[in-house]
Amino acid sequence: MIDVHGHAKGEHVAFAQERPIPYTAGTIFSWFGRAAGTGRVRTLVLTDHSNLAAPQDPDAIATAREALTLAAAGDAAGAAQTADVPLEKASMLSRAMQGGLRCLIGVEADNDPRDAQAAAEILSQWSPACVIRSVHFLELEHPNGGRWLWPFDNPEFSSFYECYSASLLWRCYVETLLRQINELRTDVVGHFYVPAKFGHWPPLRELAEHEDRLVDACTRRSLAIEFNTRALYRGPAENRETYLAHYRRLLRKSARAGVPVALGSDAHCPEDQTKGFDLAMDVIAQVGGVEVYAA
Ligand SMILES: [Zn+2]
Ligand SMILES: [Zn+2]
Repeated sequence: MIDVHGHAKGEHVAFAQERPIPYTAGTIFSWFGRAAGTGRVRTLVLTDHSNLAAPQDPDAIATAREALTLAAAGDAAGAAQTADVPLEKASMLSRAMQGGLRCLIGVEADNDPRDAQAAAEILSQWSPACVIRSVHFLELEHPNGGRWLWPFDNPEFSSFYECYSASLLWRCYVETLLRQINELRTDVVGHFYVPAKFGHWPPLRELAEHEDRLVDACTRRSLAIEFNTRALYRGPAENRETYLAHYRRLLRKSARAGVPVALGSDAHCPEDQTKGFDLAMDVIAQVGGVEVYAA
């Protein structure tokens, strides 16, 4: 089992206060250690947001990768020293990795306009094992005039849903997403249903057409589609069935087209990695013929 989606840099802070957060080798190593403690997974991919990338990250990632290689080879003491973590932690992760656990460092690359240039430069200095491509901003007409980039899935800006119909929101979202995945490196298309975070689903016929376009693009470019389980373990329980129904349909289309499906918990704390996977695996089994992505 693989979990392609985790954020060691933690939960989002207020929009105006978000700044790049530097990794240390120790934070990365400890994230994997704590996530491995759940014992439910074979491959873990760390995918923090591209806009949180700090200039120190490429060095920290290189050191963390060295420590992980040592841990995988059974050298817990070397790993502890390299990552600057207690030996006990390193031994635990080393045992898990010797048992087959893989720990990879990727990124969730989105269209956040804040310091996008700086983020791209930093990103070019390490090779992400997996790029989850996602859209978190939509360029629309602001109610007071002028174009703006709306952080539509951020609760601080949710009052703007009154200004746009679900149909318009979804059309703009899908156009933006398809442009991104057609032009930029993508391994996995992240959380396709994110515009419905606050319940804004378009009419089913339109949603189905959007899904068809996504599956087409993924077929052409050999991309995987994420089955994001965050809504299955967070947020209102009544949403769960809605999400599962939509994912069931999307998985049927993916299976028919031969598009792999990547399981992602979108965990913002290590203990949340692989949460919701039981429900997701049930859907995968019901649909049948689904190829599960393996980074
Ligand atoms: Zn995201
Ligand atoms: Zn995420």
